[in-house]
Amino acid sequence: MVKLAEWRGKELFRKYGIPLPKGQVARSADEAVRAVTSGAVPLPCVVKAQVLAGGRGKGGAVRFANTAEEVRAAAEGILALEFKGERVKELLLEGKVAIARELYVSLALDRSARLPVLIASGQGGVEIESVDDAAIDRQLVDPFPGLAAYERRRAARALGLSGPAAKALDGLLVALWELFQREDAELVEINPLAVVGDGLIALDAKVIIEDDAAFRHPEYAEIRDDRTPLEEIAREKEIAFVQLDGNIGVIANGAGITMATLDVLKEFGGNPGVFLDLGGTDDPRKVTEAFLLMARARPKAVLLNIFGGVTRCDTVAKGLVEAMTQVPASERFPLIARIRGNNEKEGIEILRAAGVASVPDLKSCAQAAVAAAAGGRP
Ligand code: ADP
Ligand code: MG
Repeated sequence: MVKLAEWRGKELFRKYGIPLPKGQVARSADEAVRAVTSGAVPLPCVVKAQVLAGGRGKGGAVRFANTAEEVRAAAEGILALEFKGERVKELLLEGKVAIARELYVSLALDRSARLPVLIASGQGGVEIESVDDAAIDRQLVDPFPGLAAYERRRAARALGLSGPAAKALDGLLVALWELFQREDAELVEINPLAVVGDGLIALDAKVIIEDDAAFRHPEYAEIRDDRTPLEEIAREKEIAFVQLDGNIGVIANGAGITMATLDVLKEFGGNPGVFLDLGGTDDPRKVTEAFLLMARARPKAVLLNIFGGVTRCDTVAKGLVEAMTQVPASERFPLIARIRGNNEKEGIEILRAAGVASVPDLKSCAQAAVAAAAGGRP
């Protein structure tokens, strides 16, 4: 998931013409002070931690400053914070605006309706989850004509806006819709959208880019959530591969059986380190690639737990045997296998011919893997 920090979200807002306070990013207290002394950010200003968690206002991660000295103090204080487990490395400084009202506006995906939804509430500035349902207006949006004028007018009414402010909202919603579509967002949220005089200003920005569209956005490559290098390779090959702390690898097919195998290993004192979910695939090429990735993670032992439902045991076995021959000697590991189901006999035979015994019962299989990882014989 590509969740953008507020300042990145606001860069998109700027690109689409959504009104913002004057602002600048800073990565140290000195930079923060310079942002105001240079005039890039007017005083009084607000200093905001650039972390992905919400609730910064309540949590002391949004502070106000009237002078350069106060900016330094606020910046130092916030940079020393660990906010909900995330160290603060960046700040956003912005001019403080005179807020008349705080509103809420977002475009999100309603997955059950399979449509975008425009959400508006006159009670902004607090988490939308805490707002009474009756105070929230939701409109499903047909993506083909796009957000219509009457829908924008209804949002304005729901927010209690009229005259110039309603007009400002109309333009803002057109821009928000454009951004949502063109940037492949699954969420664009402005909370609060401040009423300032006759106009509207976005004071916060939350933008999430749809993961399935990430390939269209190389600009976010370096901020994707922290995958290990192997997980990154796996993702490119569309292999479900997760690295944990332990030393036993698990290869299974399907999320359920994979999780169950991790549990059983834990139960017998093992420490699963990497898991790989082959899903419904028995494509020998993909199985080989997955297996080679597993080898690179250097597990002490690997438990292979395949249930042949849609997948055929023999083709999975074929892929594995092929892969085993390609693993460099330095990366070999003991393999404990359990394959059951569709074409089980053939699969077991293929593995046996390659020197891998299939242990039919899961408990013995897990115990063998734990023993092998501890240095015993599988
Ligand atoms: P969070 O949602 O993480 O709490 P926000 O960016 O929404 O952080 O900021 C919290 C509150 O701080 C806002 O609801 C608003 O009242 C106030 N605020 C934020 N930016 C400004 C600003 N530029 N001028 C005035 N008040 C602001
Ligand atoms: Mg907010």
